[in-house]
Amino acid sequence: MIEDWNNASSEYLPSVQLANKIKEDRRIICDFIDCSTGKLFFTSGATESINTVLSLQNLELNGIDTVISSKLEHHATLERLEHLTKSDIKIQYVHNDQYGRLNLEHLNKLCSENQNAMISLLSVNNETGVISDIKSATEIAHNHNAKIHIDAVQALGKIPFSLDDLEVDYASFSGHKIGSMKGVGLLFAEEPKKLAPLINGGGQEKKVRPGTYNFSAIHSLRLAVEDIDFERNAKIEEMRNEFEKNLLQINEKISINGLDAPRVYNTSNIYLGGISSQEVMFNLSSKEIFTSTGSACSSGTMEPSHVIQNMGFDRDYARSCLRLSFGEIVDIDLLTNELIKAISN
Ligand code: PLP
Repeated sequence: MIEDWNNASSEYLPSVQLANKIKEDRRIICDFIDCSTGKLFFTSGATESINTVLSLQNLELNGIDTVISSKLEHHATLERLEHLTKSDIKIQYVHNDQYGRLNLEHLNKLCSENQNAMISLLSVNNETGVISDIKSATEIAHNHNAKIHIDAVQALGKIPFSLDDLEVDYASFSGHKIGSMKGVGLLFAEEPKKLAPLINGGGQEKKVRPGTYNFSAIHSLRLAVEDIDFERNAKIEEMRNEFEKNLLQINEKISINGLDAPRVYNTSNIYLGGISSQEVMFNLSSKEIFTSTGSACSSGTMEPSHVIQNMGFDRDYARSCLRLSFGEIVDIDLLTNELIKAISN
């Protein structure tokens, strides 16, 4: 930050050098997610990327009159869709099962009933870690001439994937989920010329996303990408599976949400058998074990996870669900003991 403080869009030498560094950062990130450098743009994060794709101006530019999404999406998408209900855009939701898997037959039906649609789906659910079958969803979309956008925030670095292979039209990513600085993300567009910018300004990012480059954040994203280690992730997955197996054996009231679906390596969404997950979260926190409940604060009250509820469970069940995300190998015996103690308190 001290050395590279110049404006990458200026003409003097240090700026040109900085622009070259950004070029290299983009190339490395594009190599990792397998897309061409002309199709990937830096944004402030996934919220911005999602809002760009699902903006009224972008939908209009692409002749879209229906958005097909899922009730299991992140709030960045759900809130955007809520705003779209005030326009003429029709919103449809694809069904899912109790493990959070999308009902692809229903998606096919919705696509055949709605011409000029944009599909917007999570590739990995942030609360349960359940992986969606994006390849099949994309085939369905394209068979019906629909466009498809994926919120790939939780997929980046967690599952190997190639944008070239997936063939989606748009993808949104966030840097901080893989350890970059906060406030940087990515937007992939298969046809950048048909992407309406959310904001207007200078000529940066081919006018798709104008504004002075946040070099430090962009560079940190490249460094975070270079740090991704799938072998390490596989070891964490083994540990997570062992932890879940032990937990299920110790307490028969406990269950794991999404257990029967393909999941990413680091997430464990646990039903605590009816005990309030908020209380367990606070108890664990005093032991420096930091978990989350997936609840959202709406009108001053804690609303239990919309994801768990939309998987078909009631509010009481959702209130008893705790999410653990493993960033590294931990002592699972200690964790299991503390969790069982916190439940019994
Ligand atoms: N989508 C998912 C699945 C997320 O987990 C997040 C962040 O938590 C977002 C979107 C929003 O990303 P950002 O915070 O970079 O705007």
